[in-house]
Amino acid sequence: MKKTISSILLFSLLLCLMSSLFGCTMPNSKTEPKIHSKIISYAHFNTASQIFAYGDISDDTFESYVTTADETLEYYHKLFDIYYEYSGVNNVKTINKNAGIAPVTVDQELIDFLSYCKELYTLTEGKTNVMLGSVLKIWHNAREEAEGNFGYLPESSLPSADKLEAAGKHTSIDSLIIDRKALTVYISDPEASLDVGAVAKGYTVDILYNKLKNAGADSVVLNIGGNIRTIGQKPDGSLWTSGITNPDKTAEDSLKLRISIGESSVVTSGDYERFFLAGDKKYNHIVDPATLMPAEYFASVSIVTSESGIADALSTALFCMPYESGLALLEKVGADAIWIFKDGTVKITDGIVIVGTTY
Ligand code: ADP
Ligand code: MG
Repeated sequence: MKKTISSILLFSLLLCLMSSLFGCTMPNSKTEPKIHSKIISYAHFNTASQIFAYGDISDDTFESYVTTADETLEYYHKLFDIYYEYSGVNNVKTINKNAGIAPVTVDQELIDFLSYCKELYTLTEGKTNVMLGSVLKIWHNAREEAEGNFGYLPESSLPSADKLEAAGKHTSIDSLIIDRKALTVYISDPEASLDVGAVAKGYTVDILYNKLKNAGADSVVLNIGGNIRTIGQKPDGSLWTSGITNPDKTAEDSLKLRISIGESSVVTSGDYERFFLAGDKKYNHIVDPATLMPAEYFASVSIVTSESGIADALSTALFCMPYESGLALLEKVGADAIWIFKDGTVKITDGIVIVGTTY
């Protein structure tokens, strides 16, 4: 029930966001191109997703894009689920269940994804670590407990430092053993577990991007639970406009700024959607592996770069480090970012093109 209410809220929010997000590209006269748009589902990745196709394509072609998106999201949602298993497929939950017991035979797709997660661990200097499951579980349980209490948790019920430290000993990326030949995955530490929430959506968007591009799509916007990836450009050759959410939910404008992008991805990690309060402090869902506590540097960090999987991993990672460290990491990997600080201040890298602000 709780999940349903929050899904509906998220869904409505996304609809509002979508209307403002691409508002400037909506046709307002008969001469402007037709836009096909479809909300895919909010079951996959427990979030709403939407696909927009621009230009002169048939309804049948658009429907084929929607079917591809629907099937892709459903397949990867099941593969990456840490809470449920599904008949006929071994997924991340199956791997977690067998930690310290036995290697699990999985689809090539899961081998590829987990290998990519290891690369992202290296790329983010250990900040985005899919083996943080044992620690994230503790914070997840605290958040669930708070949800049953109007979003508040008594400070006495916060996870203790001892408990976090003990769990933190079971987060080594090396305990994730991938055998590409045997197609098996094994977690060698029985107390360690995978949580792929920080990269799952971004990676899936890239898979979908490739499938649609191969199917001939050349003017499409994908919004998979807020992870944006564009294909090609608008029919008139102009750039896309993407909105960056205002983390301040009391503000009049739901967007903090709007940016111009080419064929690219925009992914945001923020403290304003999934959090709880204890005392006068906010505890969000992104945990800094260095402190094992929810990161407190920013209200949000958005990454703009071509690959959505990299953008997703970097948004989580930069959320967990001071501005200067994030900037240095971006210079090394070659991506752009927008930091929104808790006091509303905004910082951007040189490659960000702002087309409008509300601050
Ligand atoms: P969103 O929830 O908007 O997709 P993120 O991409 O930042 O935001 O992913 C947050 C999720 O990733 C959390 O819900 C949790 O499951 C997981 N997570 C939190 N902190 C980390 C971390 N440091 N490394 C890897 N995964 C994390
Ligand atoms: Mg992320």
